[in-house]
Amino acid sequence: MNEVAKHEIDGWLEKAVRADLLTAGGLTEDAAALKAAGALLYPNSLRRKDDTVCCLLRLGSARALGVFGPGAGFSGESRSLPGGGRALFCALSHENAESLRALLPWTAPSPLASQKTTIGLGDRLGVAGPGHIRTLEDRKAAPVLAQQSVRELDLTGRSYEDVLDSATWAVFQEGYERPWGADGDHLKTEEWVRTALGIGFTMITADVSDYIHGEKAALHGDELLAAYAGLPASFRRTLDAEFLSLRLTLDTGEEIRFDPEGLARAALVYGEALDHAERLYRAGVEAAGEGGFDFELSVDETDTPTTPEAHVFVAAECRRRNLGVTSLAPRFVGEFQKGIDYIGDVKEFEKSFAVHAAVARHFGYRISVHSGSDKFTVFPAVGRLTAGSFHIKTAGTNWLEAVLVIARLNPALYRRLHQGALDSFERATAYYHVTTDLGKIPALEDLSDAELPELFANSDARQLIHITYGELLRNTELKRDFFSCLEEHIEAYWQALQVHIGRHLDRLGI
Ligand code: ZN
Repeated sequence: MNEVAKHEIDGWLEKAVRADLLTAGGLTEDAAALKAAGALLYPNSLRRKDDTVCCLLRLGSARALGVFGPGAGFSGESRSLPGGGRALFCALSHENAESLRALLPWTAPSPLASQKTTIGLGDRLGVAGPGHIRTLEDRKAAPVLAQQSVRELDLTGRSYEDVLDSATWAVFQEGYERPWGADGDHLKTEEWVRTALGIGFTMITADVSDYIHGEKAALHGDELLAAYAGLPASFRRTLDAEFLSLRLTLDTGEEIRFDPEGLARAALVYGEALDHAERLYRAGVEAAGEGGFDFELSVDETDTPTTPEAHVFVAAECRRRNLGVTSLAPRFVGEFQKGIDYIGDVKEFEKSFAVHAAVARHFGYRISVHSGSDKFTVFPAVGRLTAGSFHIKTAGTNWLEAVLVIARLNPALYRRLHQGALDSFERATAYYHVTTDLGKIPALEDLSDAELPELFANSDARQLIHITYGELLRNTELKRDFFSCLEEHIEAYWQALQVHIGRHLDRLGI
């Protein structure tokens, strides 16, 4: 909401007077009275700092910040209160979010390096936060509430300011004073690293996939060694000294060692990627200082799984280059497709995941699992084999839950979304790797309204909706109807998230 509607403010004041919420010059801090007036404000948001009382209000279908007292730094619609004093009714703008973060530091994100378990809860729509926070209430995990890649920003037409502010308002609304993070996800350039940290993000996921030369892994024998000989001599000397005598025994019993061919292969595939990781890390340090941000290195967007040797090579090189890695995302065996369960041999996954987790432990960072939405069959292994020390990212499933709420509560709108998704599916596959078979999705006209939610148990239908969010939200009319419906049923959406993300956490054992 960019404007606070004046008639909504008058309506609010009238109701507040009737509910006895206003004392001489301010808002009562009587929790019971505020709870009773829950439809008017979010009682958990109420905070006093010096002479200023602020809280999150509901004005009609929109939310606004209420500031009672001096409240320097906020701008909004000023009103005198019946008992004397003044109140400001502020739009949830970027400037007001900045002022709120300055007034109440816990509404700003912080680095989570010291946390054991962290979960990324990407919220492409900017409205899921309260549901996520309620899910986390009695769990031993710290949330990364703002998490967006540049691809997602493009597809949703949002900015990093907006992504961060949405999380701030959610945290404020729920009165969530524990640490939470903000992740500039899959950033590929130094400029984006500086931008995200400059805006206030506290985590960078460095995506170096464009610099990983997977094709070099196929080289063998003389060809391989000749290619290695082409690397700068000083680099080779450093690597030879670092790796050829290395005997690393992991706590799971595996021993990692490098012969000249193995080292040459790792260096050729990952050498340039490490150079780029270093550039991105230095850009981060310039912007936020050493230790001022979490640094996740992601090598997951490749075709072939990361071998244990490759993981050790990357980790050891990061250490030699003094990169403060807080988590690392390898490419695991099997398929981690968006919004559906793991595809592959679970036993094989467990075996290789155990080794990656051990490498992460050895080097002192958390293992990170990307595309972690709905991977229910492998969650127990992730929780057990890391003893709870991991980072996991979800995003698409939060969007899917929003569409599922609409399928339940507004079937006509769902049908329009579904048709729009079918019409734009082909275009959307340019951004996401999926193996969706549209032929396996029942035709809309064969389904009754009551049957629509069942589509969300169909992997192909899930992926259809999952990857087309950008196309659907680009349609102005559809976008408007989508958001107004979701806002109307926002408590149902938050409840759905509590159930669905709660199931994730249950399976992960946190
Ligand atoms: Zn990833």
